[in-house]
Amino acid sequence: MMVDTHCHLLKEDYDNLDDIIMKMKDNIIIASGYDSKSNLEVIDLVNKYPNIYGTIGFHPSELDDFSSDSLNILEEQLKNPKIVGIGEIGLDYHYDDTDKDRQHDAFIKQILLANKLKCPIVVHSRDAALDTYEILEKYLDTKAIMHCYSYSLEMSKKFINLGMYLGIGGVLTFKNSSKIKEVVLNTDLSHLVLETDSPYLTPEPFRGMKNEPYNVYYVAKEIASIKGIDIEKVFDETFKNAKNIFNI
Ligand SMILES: [Zn+2]
Repeated sequence: MMVDTHCHLLKEDYDNLDDIIMKMKDNIIIASGYDSKSNLEVIDLVNKYPNIYGTIGFHPSELDDFSSDSLNILEEQLKNPKIVGIGEIGLDYHYDDTDKDRQHDAFIKQILLANKLKCPIVVHSRDAALDTYEILEKYLDTKAIMHCYSYSLEMSKKFINLGMYLGIGGVLTFKNSSKIKEVVLNTDLSHLVLETDSPYLTPEPFRGMKNEPYNVYYVAKEIASIKGIDIEKVFDETFKNAKNIFNI
Protein backbone atom coordinates (compact mmCIF):
# COMPACT_ATOMS: atom_id res chain seq x y z
CA MET A 1 0.00 0.00 0.00
CA MET A 2 1.22 3.53 -0.81
CA VAL A 3 0.77 6.59 1.38
CA ASP A 4 1.04 10.09 -0.03
CA THR A 5 1.94 11.78 3.27
CA HIS A 6 1.64 15.33 1.94
CA CYS A 7 -0.45 16.90 -0.80
CA HIS A 8 -2.92 19.73 -1.41
CA LEU A 9 -6.22 18.76 -2.99
CA LEU A 10 -8.08 22.02 -3.38
CA LYS A 11 -11.17 22.38 -5.54
CA GLU A 12 -9.67 25.41 -7.27
CA ASP A 13 -6.71 23.31 -8.52
CA TYR A 14 -8.57 20.25 -9.83
CA ASP A 15 -11.75 19.70 -11.77
CA ASN A 16 -11.34 15.90 -11.53
CA LEU A 17 -10.81 15.54 -7.78
CA ASP A 18 -13.11 12.51 -7.50
CA ASP A 19 -11.16 10.69 -10.22
CA ILE A 20 -7.71 11.28 -8.78
CA ILE A 21 -8.91 10.29 -5.30
CA MET A 22 -10.56 7.12 -6.69
CA LYS A 23 -7.26 6.21 -8.36
CA MET A 24 -5.84 6.00 -4.81
CA LYS A 25 -8.78 4.05 -3.37
CA ASP A 26 -6.56 1.15 -2.24
CA ASN A 27 -3.99 3.56 -0.84
CA ILE A 28 -3.89 6.40 1.67
CA ILE A 29 -3.74 10.16 1.12
CA ILE A 30 -2.85 12.73 3.76
CA ALA A 31 -4.12 16.10 2.55
CA SER A 32 -2.54 19.19 4.04
CA GLY A 33 -3.95 22.62 4.80
CA TYR A 34 -1.90 25.80 5.09
CA ASP A 35 -4.35 28.56 6.17
CA SER A 36 -7.89 28.90 7.59
CA LYS A 37 -9.65 28.32 4.28
CA SER A 38 -7.60 25.35 3.09
CA ASN A 39 -7.82 23.77 6.56
CA LEU A 40 -11.62 23.76 6.19
CA GLU A 41 -11.33 22.15 2.76
CA VAL A 42 -9.14 19.41 4.24
CA ILE A 43 -11.78 18.74 6.89
CA ASP A 44 -14.45 18.41 4.16
CA LEU A 45 -12.25 15.94 2.27
CA VAL A 46 -11.53 13.67 5.24
CA ASN A 47 -15.21 13.59 6.11
CA LYS A 48 -16.12 12.63 2.56
CA TYR A 49 -13.47 10.06 1.56
CA PRO A 50 -12.51 7.02 3.66
CA ASN A 51 -8.94 6.89 2.28
CA ILE A 52 -8.12 10.53 3.08
CA TYR A 53 -6.70 11.81 6.37
CA GLY A 54 -5.61 15.37 6.96
CA THR A 55 -3.18 17.73 8.63
CA ILE A 56 -4.07 21.35 9.30
CA GLY A 57 -1.99 24.38 10.21
CA PHE A 58 -0.61 27.74 9.16
CA HIS A 59 2.20 27.84 6.59
CA PRO A 60 4.94 30.43 7.29
CA SER A 61 4.03 32.39 4.13
CA GLU A 62 0.30 32.31 4.93
CA LEU A 63 0.16 33.97 8.34
CA ASP A 64 -2.20 36.86 7.54
CA ASP A 65 -5.06 35.26 9.42
CA PHE A 66 -3.00 33.56 12.12
CA SER A 67 -3.92 34.77 15.61
CA SER A 68 -4.26 33.41 19.14
CA ASP A 69 -7.78 32.40 18.12
CA SER A 70 -6.33 30.23 15.37
CA LEU A 71 -4.71 27.94 17.93
CA ASN A 72 -8.06 27.39 19.68
CA ILE A 73 -9.71 26.66 16.35
CA LEU A 74 -6.96 24.21 15.36
CA GLU A 75 -7.27 22.45 18.70
CA GLU A 76 -11.03 22.11 18.20
CA GLN A 77 -10.62 20.90 14.59
CA LEU A 78 -8.02 18.34 15.69
CA LYS A 79 -10.73 16.54 17.65
CA ASN A 80 -11.87 15.08 14.31
CA PRO A 81 -10.28 11.58 14.41
CA LYS A 82 -9.29 11.87 10.75
CA ILE A 83 -7.34 15.07 11.31
CA VAL A 84 -4.09 13.41 12.30
CA GLY A 85 -1.50 16.16 12.65
CA ILE A 86 -0.49 19.82 12.44
CA GLY A 87 1.01 21.01 9.16
CA GLU A 88 2.27 22.37 7.12
CA ILE A 89 4.10 24.68 9.49
CA GLY A 90 7.66 25.97 9.55
CA LEU A 91 9.93 28.69 8.20
CA ASP A 92 10.28 30.12 4.70
CA TYR A 93 12.92 32.81 4.09
CA HIS A 94 12.64 32.67 0.31
CA TYR A 95 11.07 36.10 -0.08
CA ASP A 96 12.81 39.36 0.84
CA ASP A 97 9.93 40.72 2.89
CA THR A 98 9.99 37.77 5.29
CA ASP A 99 8.93 38.65 8.83
CA LYS A 100 11.13 36.17 10.67
CA ASP A 101 9.85 36.99 14.16
CA ARG A 102 6.28 36.36 13.10
CA GLN A 103 7.22 33.07 11.43
CA HIS A 104 9.14 31.90 14.50
CA ASP A 105 6.24 32.81 16.77
CA ALA A 106 3.63 30.91 14.70
CA PHE A 107 5.94 27.91 14.21
CA ILE A 108 6.76 27.59 17.91
CA LYS A 109 3.15 28.03 19.02
CA GLN A 110 1.98 25.31 16.62
CA ILE A 111 4.78 22.95 17.74
CA LEU A 112 3.76 23.48 21.37
CA LEU A 113 0.13 22.72 20.51
CA ALA A 114 1.21 19.49 18.78
CA ASN A 115 3.33 18.53 21.79
CA LYS A 116 0.34 19.09 24.05
CA LEU A 117 -2.04 17.07 21.84
CA LYS A 118 0.66 14.43 21.15
CA CYS A 119 0.03 14.72 17.42
CA PRO A 120 2.71 14.82 14.71
CA ILE A 121 3.81 17.90 12.78
CA VAL A 122 4.65 18.31 9.10
CA VAL A 123 7.41 20.87 8.65
CA HIS A 124 7.93 23.15 5.66
CA SER A 125 11.41 24.70 5.55
CA ARG A 126 12.87 26.75 2.71
CA ASP A 127 16.17 28.66 2.83
CA ALA A 128 15.98 28.34 6.60
CA ALA A 129 17.75 25.10 7.54
CA LEU A 130 19.63 26.27 10.62
CA ASP A 131 16.82 28.29 12.21
CA THR A 132 14.38 25.43 11.56
CA TYR A 133 16.76 23.00 13.20
CA GLU A 134 17.38 25.23 16.22
CA ILE A 135 13.67 25.71 16.88
CA LEU A 136 12.93 22.00 16.49
CA GLU A 137 15.85 21.02 18.69
CA LYS A 138 14.58 23.32 21.41
CA TYR A 139 10.81 22.69 21.23
CA LEU A 140 9.97 19.45 19.40
CA ASP A 141 8.52 16.79 21.66
CA THR A 142 6.37 14.80 19.23
CA LYS A 143 6.72 12.94 15.93
CA ALA A 144 7.60 15.00 12.88
CA ILE A 145 8.31 14.98 9.15
CA MET A 146 10.62 17.34 7.27
CA HIS A 147 8.33 17.61 4.27
CA CYS A 148 9.86 17.79 0.77
CA TYR A 149 13.33 17.39 2.24
CA SER A 150 15.81 19.40 0.16
CA TYR A 151 18.76 20.21 2.40
CA SER A 152 22.13 18.44 2.64
CA LEU A 153 22.95 14.93 3.81
CA GLU A 154 24.75 16.43 6.80
CA MET A 155 21.64 18.39 7.86
CA SER A 156 19.43 15.34 7.31
CA LYS A 157 21.41 13.45 9.94
CA LYS A 158 20.76 16.23 12.43
CA PHE A 159 17.00 16.19 11.78
CA ILE A 160 16.95 12.39 12.00
CA ASN A 161 18.79 12.63 15.31
CA LEU A 162 15.81 14.61 16.60
CA GLY A 163 13.69 11.56 15.75
CA MET A 164 12.29 13.14 12.59
CA TYR A 165 11.40 11.52 9.27
CA LEU A 166 12.24 12.88 5.81
CA GLY A 167 9.40 13.37 3.30
CA ILE A 168 10.69 12.48 -0.18
CA GLY A 169 8.84 13.81 -3.21
CA GLY A 170 9.01 14.24 -6.97
CA VAL A 171 12.19 16.34 -6.93
CA LEU A 172 14.07 13.07 -6.38
CA THR A 173 13.25 12.04 -9.96
CA PHE A 174 14.65 15.24 -11.52
CA LYS A 175 17.94 14.96 -13.38
CA ASN A 176 19.61 17.77 -11.41
CA SER A 177 18.70 16.42 -7.98
CA SER A 178 22.05 14.91 -7.00
CA LYS A 179 21.88 16.33 -3.45
CA ILE A 180 18.59 14.64 -2.55
CA LYS A 181 19.65 11.43 -4.33
CA GLU A 182 22.70 11.36 -2.06
CA VAL A 183 20.43 11.79 0.98
CA VAL A 184 18.18 8.90 -0.11
CA LEU A 185 21.14 6.63 -0.89
CA ASN A 186 22.62 7.21 2.55
CA THR A 187 19.46 7.18 4.66
CA ASP A 188 17.81 4.03 5.96
CA LEU A 189 14.24 3.44 4.74
CA SER A 190 13.12 3.50 8.37
CA HIS A 191 13.51 7.33 8.26
CA LEU A 192 11.71 8.02 4.96
CA VAL A 193 8.12 8.64 3.88
CA LEU A 194 6.67 9.26 0.41
CA GLU A 195 4.85 12.42 -0.65
CA THR A 196 3.83 14.31 -3.78
CA ASP A 197 3.12 17.88 -2.59
CA SER A 198 0.44 17.87 -5.33
CA PRO A 199 -0.41 19.87 -7.34
CA TYR A 200 3.28 20.91 -7.40
CA LEU A 201 6.60 19.14 -8.04
CA THR A 202 5.36 16.48 -10.46
CA PRO A 203 7.86 13.62 -10.80
CA GLU A 204 9.34 12.33 -14.03
CA PRO A 205 8.02 11.08 -16.42
CA PHE A 206 5.18 13.60 -15.98
CA ARG A 207 7.20 16.68 -15.04
CA GLY A 208 5.45 19.84 -16.24
CA MET A 209 1.96 18.36 -15.75
CA LYS A 210 -0.24 18.80 -12.69
CA ASN A 211 0.80 16.47 -9.88
CA GLU A 212 -1.57 14.04 -8.16
CA PRO A 213 -1.26 11.60 -5.21
CA TYR A 214 -0.95 8.47 -7.37
CA ASN A 215 2.43 9.77 -8.54
CA VAL A 216 4.00 8.70 -5.22
CA TYR A 217 4.45 5.49 -7.20
CA TYR A 218 7.19 7.18 -9.27
CA VAL A 219 8.91 8.52 -6.17
CA ALA A 220 8.94 5.01 -4.67
CA LYS A 221 10.26 3.62 -7.95
CA GLU A 222 13.15 6.09 -7.91
CA ILE A 223 13.99 5.30 -4.27
CA ALA A 224 14.01 1.56 -5.14
CA SER A 225 16.30 2.19 -8.09
CA ILE A 226 18.74 4.40 -6.12
CA LYS A 227 18.95 1.86 -3.31
CA GLY A 228 18.92 -1.17 -5.62
CA ILE A 229 15.98 -2.76 -3.80
CA ASP A 230 12.51 -4.00 -4.64
CA ILE A 231 9.77 -1.35 -4.93
CA GLU A 232 7.52 -3.48 -2.67
CA LYS A 233 10.03 -3.02 0.12
CA VAL A 234 9.84 0.75 -0.33
CA PHE A 235 6.02 0.61 -0.14
CA ASP A 236 6.07 -1.64 2.95
CA GLU A 237 8.64 0.33 4.93
CA THR A 238 7.31 3.80 4.12
CA PHE A 239 3.76 2.62 4.87
CA LYS A 240 4.92 1.33 8.25
CA ASN A 241 6.58 4.69 8.97
CA ALA A 242 3.50 6.71 7.94
CA LYS A 243 1.29 4.47 10.08
CA ASN A 244 3.58 4.97 13.04
CA ILE A 245 3.76 8.76 12.61
CA PHE A 246 0.06 9.47 12.02
CA ASN A 247 -1.41 6.59 14.00
CA ILE A 248 -3.64 5.60 11.06
ZN1 LIG B 1 2.84 21.42 0.71
